[in-house]
Amino acid sequence: MQTKILLDEKDIPTHWYNVIADMPNPPAPVLAPDGSPVPPEALLAIFPEALVEQEVSDKRWIEIPEPVREIYQLWRPSPLCRAHRLEAALGTPARIYYKYEGVSPAGSHKPNTAVAQAWYNKQAGIKRLATETGAGQWGSSLALAGQMFGLDIRVYMVKVSYEQKPFRRSMMQTWGAEVLASPTDRTESGRQILAADPDSPGSLGIAISEAVEEAASREDTNYALGSVLNHVLLHQTVIGLEAKKQFEQVNDYPDVVLAPCGGGSNFGGAAFPFLADKAAGKQVRLVAVEPASCPTLTRGHYAYDFGDTVGHTPLMKMYTLGHDFVPPGIHAGGLRYHGDSALVSQLYHEGLIEAVAVKQLATFEAGVQFARAEGIIPAPESNHAIRAAIDEALKCRESGEAKAIFFNLSGHGHFDMASYDRYFSGELEDYEYPEEQINAALERLPKVG
Ligand SMILES: *Cc1c(COP(=O)(O)O)cnc(C)c1O
Repeated sequence: MQTKILLDEKDIPTHWYNVIADMPNPPAPVLAPDGSPVPPEALLAIFPEALVEQEVSDKRWIEIPEPVREIYQLWRPSPLCRAHRLEAALGTPARIYYKYEGVSPAGSHKPNTAVAQAWYNKQAGIKRLATETGAGQWGSSLALAGQMFGLDIRVYMVKVSYEQKPFRRSMMQTWGAEVLASPTDRTESGRQILAADPDSPGSLGIAISEAVEEAASREDTNYALGSVLNHVLLHQTVIGLEAKKQFEQVNDYPDVVLAPCGGGSNFGGAAFPFLADKAAGKQVRLVAVEPASCPTLTRGHYAYDFGDTVGHTPLMKMYTLGHDFVPPGIHAGGLRYHGDSALVSQLYHEGLIEAVAVKQLATFEAGVQFARAEGIIPAPESNHAIRAAIDEALKCRESGEAKAIFFNLSGHGHFDMASYDRYFSGELEDYEYPEEQINAALERLPKVG
């Protein structure tokens, strides 16, 4: 019984896969608030040219620079594991597989893009990167990547996480980054929020506004985003590309691919390489799993909206709960974004991928069941995919179907034990985002043109 399906370092992909090449329709244009298309050059104020090119490219394969592959070798290829013990515990005929991205130094999939982004910025002569972080996963990934290539990193960390997750902050500092609790008084955006609410707990949208403002106002500084954008999803496709090789090795192929979905990057990374097969006629379901408390795809509106709270970014067509959405304090910090990747949104809108929303308590129940069977303690974000995978496996138990279920275990939960504590002590609650608030947000969406 094989458990870990491993590849050699030479099997790290040489190219990223660009799903735009296989989409039935070109991506919806990015717009200015007046409704005019934003030319890609406008992004050069905060991103290096190579990433702007990737953002709009329709080339199917994009070469991974050798120095990026060399850093990937520190933890890639990541293992694909067969969850034999979980299958037995569930009494399911299904075959359950997971790709474990928690083996990276930062403990999640996020370094796959952080390393690439740091490299392209370094090549463009940039000295500093400004970014935001929610739970600290992205900030620590960029801190790691900055250290690898000698870039200074400043991280605007959502204040509530800064206070709840001091060890993520220490991790960033260990890799040499500067970490500030957002909202700060150092940017116009931060001061504006603080004037309205001095006790603001912050949000990802606010922290993005601060980091973008800083990057736009300094020549030597660029901005780096850990999810949502096309080039970020592109870099994450190493996950799905490796997984496909690993499935070949054991002569299997997933019936369903599941991944937690915040901004959509690990979902896109795991699922898009399979979407290429789907476009070629293969049967495979691709399912994004989101929290019921932040139900962007399942209950949001497909509309043009800002990527940040204050409205510095151009408008992207995406599923959104409204750019001023301040999410409830659920424990999957990485899934609390108001919007979603434009690519994931469009593919969902066109019916090529599916989405489900799951409740917080059920996700922790699934995570604990997984840890007790497979050993690994998952990140609360990853627990969303595990919940959905277990639900699929239980359906197979009912129907007797022996499906192959594949999910992305996007990270470990070693820095999230306080959330597990709260789950064990019965302090966690389910929260469903109220319908009135979703409708009210629609009223406040920017009127395009
Ligand atoms: C950030 C994060 C996510 C969600 O972000 P996506 O961009 O949707 O992938 C999921 N899992 C972990 C462990 C994360 O750190």
